[in-house]
Amino acid sequence: KRSLAKSNAHFRKALTRLPLGVASNFRYWGEDKTIYVKRGKGGRIWDLDDNGYVDYRLGYGPAILGYADPRVDEAARQGMEVGGVFALGTEREYEAACRISRMVPAAELVRFSNSGTEAVMAALRLARGYTGRSGYVILEGGYHGLFDAALWTSDVDNWDPGSKTYPALIPYSQGVPEIGRQLIHQAPMNDADYLEDLFKRRSGEIAAMLMEPIQGNCCAITADPDYVRAVRRLCDQYGVVLIIDEVKSGFRVARGGIQSLMGVKADLCTFAKAMANGYQIAALAGREDIMRRFGRGVAHGGTYTAHSVALAAANKTLEILEETPALETIAGYGLRMQKGMSRILEARGIVHSFSGHPSMGGLFFAEKPPRNYRDWKTSDYSFYDAMAQHLHDQGVLCEPDSREPWFVCEAHDEGCLETTLAGFERAV
Ligand code: PMP
Repeated sequence: KRSLAKSNAHFRKALTRLPLGVASNFRYWGEDKTIYVKRGKGGRIWDLDDNGYVDYRLGYGPAILGYADPRVDEAARQGMEVGGVFALGTEREYEAACRISRMVPAAELVRFSNSGTEAVMAALRLARGYTGRSGYVILEGGYHGLFDAALWTSDVDNWDPGSKTYPALIPYSQGVPEIGRQLIHQAPMNDADYLEDLFKRRSGEIAAMLMEPIQGNCCAITADPDYVRAVRRLCDQYGVVLIIDEVKSGFRVARGGIQSLMGVKADLCTFAKAMANGYQIAALAGREDIMRRFGRGVAHGGTYTAHSVALAAANKTLEILEETPALETIAGYGLRMQKGMSRILEARGIVHSFSGHPSMGGLFFAEKPPRNYRDWKTSDYSFYDAMAQHLHDQGVLCEPDSREPWFVCEAHDEGCLETTLAGFERAV
């Protein structure tokens, strides 16, 4: 077992000034398990105790090329020379917008934000401004950021799987106003009849449907392409703006994102994470007639929007993703890793399956991945969670509690794969 003595000592100190000793609730892994990072390089990170890890969390996806990528960091340094933010535009915004439009057919016009949360908030406001309606639909299990309207979830813990009903909708956090319930509707994934019925009854109130075809916060459980296409058709039929949230999948699973893999075009789509290899920038893009509402009644802005450093990093990252085989390298690595895992598991007769995409794949110890959030929440993950703990001791970092998929970056190399599969075999 690896020593976390320095991380543990730092945790006790940090706790005196930071709630849970960290800057995000999700970075707290328990009193003696919370890890503090000294640095990251390529596909690996090192903690305060100098334990090295092949990292498959990658900051929840951003480090698509690897940590401290010299090409992106050099561009960011040049971005620093530009001077920061000006309360005015720069030429580089147009460059990034053109590239996004080339890569993603739905992205006719583009606006930038600082985080995925902000981009989705702006998308929802825009859809409401465009339709004049206030309600919205989210898919059960979807995560769209840390704003009140998105922080609702299904109360699977107090639901009887044998019943014909769906779990109740509950706030995900204290502090989310109960009054928000009047505007939100939840739909189960892969059930087009349910959505059609909801639209039939309520579409006059519904501005937008928000969906993540690969649910990045449920170990990459994935909507059937037929379902996604049915959602597209129903949104068209009932005048609902389809927002595809590609904050995790965008510029990762394909140059054109999950939309291109599933053969659908969103009305609005949101990006962040992989678009700048970890620098803080996000984008909202979509149909020209909807996007032009910005400045014609719909508010959008932000002091730090399109900061010169983040924008330079985005331009370089997107250039690499569009013009080099980085995404093929990433998917190839992911596939080889999954095949290696399968060999190890099959030799022991352990039933398993993968979800999502090789660049952000979920691993399940079941014949098939869960079909929806309810299946996912009611599955037994004790084997996975125990394995993940052992893997950490072998120097391989995946999400400890089977919530997030395994993110792959361009810098994961043969050495990483070897460490991973050897560690996986011992952990299993
Ligand atoms: N949408 C999706 C699909 C996400 O995965 C996330 C972040 N995990 C967000 C929105 C929010 O992005 P951010 O954390 O940058 O605010």
